[in-house]
Amino acid sequence: MEESLIKKLMTSIKCGVCGYSYVVDNIDVLSHHQDLWFVSAICPTCHTRCLMAAIVKEEVSEVITDLTEAEVDKLKDSKLTADEVLDMHDFLKNFDGDFSRLFARRKD
Ligand SMILES: [Zn+2]
Repeated sequence: MEESLIKKLMTSIKCGVCGYSYVVDNIDVLSHHQDLWFVSAICPTCHTRCLMAAIVKEEVSEVITDLTEAEVDKLKDSKLTADEVLDMHDFLKNFDGDFSRLFARRKD
């Protein structure tokens, strides 16, 4: 998986503060372990920084947002497998991990 494709995937995500979509130029890939990617994005309009973890496989893609930097560090250090990272959903209050529903919200 290329970084450019990861960035393209992230442009489907909207800023949690202002609702504006992220753009490729403002997205940085921090690191990745196999299918799990850590990404930092800065909103082009309100400049809020967002950390995201994305699980990208051939047919299954999932983006987990609203991570704190401490959570990202914890995940990077623990060398979790992609499946174990699914447990990260417990951290999240606003996103239930359903990728299709995440995208459906864009139509609201
Ligand atoms: Zn914003």
